[in-house]
Formats: sequence, C-alpha cells, structure tokens
Amino acid sequence: MTTLPTYADVVAAADRLHGHAHRTPVLRSRTADDMLGASVFFKCENFQRMGAFKFRGAFNALSRFDAVQRLAGVVTFSSGNHAQAVALSARILGMPAVILMPSDAPQAKIDATRGYGGEVILFDRFKEDREALLQALARERGMTMIPPFDHPDVMAGQGTAVKELLDEVGELDHLFVCLGGGGLLSGSALAARALSPRCKIYGVEPEAGNDGQQSFRSGQIVRIPTPQTIADGAQSQALGHYTFAVIQRDVDDVLTATDAQLVQAMRFFAERMKMVVEPTGCLGFAAACHAGVPLVGQRVGVVISGGNVDLGRFGELLAL
Ligand SMILES: *Cc1c(COP(=O)(O)O)cnc(C)c1O
Repeated sequence: MTTLPTYADVVAAADRLHGHAHRTPVLRSRTADDMLGASVFFKCENFQRMGAFKFRGAFNALSRFDAVQRLAGVVTFSSGNHAQAVALSARILGMPAVILMPSDAPQAKIDATRGYGGEVILFDRFKEDREALLQALARERGMTMIPPFDHPDVMAGQGTAVKELLDEVGELDHLFVCLGGGGLLSGSALAARALSPRCKIYGVEPEAGNDGQQSFRSGQIVRIPTPQTIADGAQSQALGHYTFAVIQRDVDDVLTATDAQLVQAMRFFAERMKMVVEPTGCLGFAAACHAGVPLVGQRVGVVISGGNVDLGRFGELLAL
C-alpha cells in the first residue's frame, strides 16, 4: 500500500519540474479586488504547457519511472487535459504513451493529444469496459498506468502550482481551488498547509456534480452518475482514495458554482484580464464571488486551472 504524499514530495516534484514546466504568472486585477473588497492573486495555470496544470502531475509521475518502465512507457485514460499532459510528458522523457479516450471526446482534445505524439485508442464509453481495456493494454505492452488524479506522484506534482503561488506572494487567508477528482486540491492543500498554515482552503465543484462536497461532509466517498455541466474537467464521479484522505484532513470546505456563474467568470477573465479560461478553470473565482465566504479585507488566492476550450465553444458559452 502506497502512503499519502507529503509536502516533501511537493518540493521534490518542484525540483523535477524545474526547467520543464512553466513557472506561470500570478496576475492581479483591480476590478476583481474591487468586486470582492479583497486582494486577489490569480495563479494562471491556463498559461502552463499544454494549457493546464495537469502537465505538472503527469511529468512528475513519469519522471519517476525506472529504466524498465521507461522502455515500455505509460498508459492512461482521459477525455481531457490529462491525455495531453501524459502525451507531452512522455514525448519530453522519450517514452511511448497510449491514451485511451472516449470516442465522443472533443476532436480538438483528440487532435492535441495525437499532436503531442501520444497513441490514441478510442473506445465506446457506453459499450466497452474502460478498466478491462486499460488492464489488457498494461499487460500486453508492459506499460505503467498513470491515472488522472488518484496517484501520490500526480498529487505531489499538482501541488507545485500553489507552492509557486505562496513562494511568490506569501501567506494567504483563503485559497479557492477547482475540484474534479481532487489531484489539484489535495496537492494544493499539502503546499498550503506547509507554507501558509492558517489559510482556509476550499475545493470548488460544479453544482450539478457535488460528489466531493457530499463526500467531504459525510466522511465517506460518494459516487454519482456523470454530471451534466459545462465544466468538462470536473465531471468526475467520485474522489480517489488518496485524494479524499488528504482533502478530508487538510481542506476546510468544498463549495459549488453553477454553470451560469462559470460563464460570468469566463466573461470576466476574457473582458477584464484578456484571458481565455476554460469553464472548469473558472470554478475557483466563481465561488470566491458567489459562495458567500466573507472575504473583505482578506488576501485571497484563486487557482485558474486551465485554458483549453475550443474557440467556437467559447463564443457559444459567452453568448449564453
Ligand atoms: C483536471 C482538471 C481539473 C480538476 O482536477 P482534479 O485533479 O481532477 O481535481 C480542473 N481544471 C482543469 C482545467 C482540469 O483539466
């Protein structure tokens, strides 16, 4: 049984990522400060390599492969940013990567994953058993499976974004982090507990898919059907075992945001900060604006997790 990652693992991950991941900017906005009556620090992972923080976790995990594992390579499943993160990390590290993607995944994400050199295998998510397919691939090709969030090395890698944020701006009173399966939130919590012990840490989920909130509040992992939301990076059905353990221990609360609030935040980022942020990447700021946490006079960190949204889709959403 693997043990839970610690802040020391986040520090080790930061060393491995040095020179490979971007140190993304921390941006401010006078308008955001005025809206919340607070000092708001945006950690902009939409400017990370491949467009989302997931590069951090994937690269960290693949960097730890031994020589035998490197030769056979990595296998994973994802309809979204983890696919691109694994493909790009594998290419940088010179190993093969097979990514199992649902055949109805956005074409842009399939193309991007192939563009980074990943071998994409499509499957019918309504008819085929993903786990069985993965296990067969791992067995036949000797590949190592790296899941999108429930893995100590992935969690530690994701934590490096908030480590950078806190190293740069100092301690915060509140930190809002997007929540899907909990890789980003658990890693962020490890970093924040070490570097800003009094900071309140919130995970933010789409309202339609609040399995994490239910799990956090009931003390056991709650599984839900795939939620209908524009936040396609947070459509996970359940937290992982490792991620839940860290979230339960280190996170203060799990909040939600509606799709309408996500669209409003997307428009804010585009109009005021000239940034393309994908709907899932808006969760943190949407909750800072609407979830009722008193923030006046406080120092507030918001993680913007990614910017991968098809531009046609982006326009449609802004027109809503
Ligand atoms: C994957 C992803 C998330 C959710 O991250 P988890 O580690 O699964 O909680 C949030 N935002 C974006 C852009 C993502 O790609």
